[in-house]
Amino acid sequence: MKEIRKTEKENGMDGDFLFITEIGCMDGRETEPVERFIKNNVVSKDESREIAIDKVTEPGMDAILSGESKFTPIFQVYKKAEISAKHHESSTAIVVGHSSCAGNPVEDSIHIKQIEKSVKVVSGWNLFTKIIGVFVDAKREVQIISSIGEGKV
Ligand SMILES: [Zn+2]
Repeated sequence: MKEIRKTEKENGMDGDFLFITEIGCMDGRETEPVERFIKNNVVSKDESREIAIDKVTEPGMDAILSGESKFTPIFQVYKKAEISAKHHESSTAIVVGHSSCAGNPVEDSIHIKQIEKSVKVVSGWNLFTKIIGVFVDAKREVQIISSIGEGKV
């Protein structure tokens, strides 16, 4: 029989969590669509643990990871992602870019190219077994741009 997934706040800090790492923009408009995407499309329906999304955020993260912005050194992003992977045993990273980004004001088509490159960069860190690059479009719908690694988590 399937267990019902634990609801938010049912667990204390030492509870049983499935950690997923979001590496995206600081923009709060991506929070809800990405959370919904992770719960519906990334995590197995049989997962009984509460989902905890570790957030590594910078303005215009897709530009930073693809080398188009020097706002934050990539090494700092790597070190934050490393904490999520090593201390929380997150095996999955979601790399996010979005439309109307104040930190990276480029056309959507450029975001998509930067997300593709960002997924390759994060893959090269060897911290995660699965990396999914997504774009939150003008309607705040989540489009999968590219992914490395198979299956749900
Ligand atoms: Zn942004």
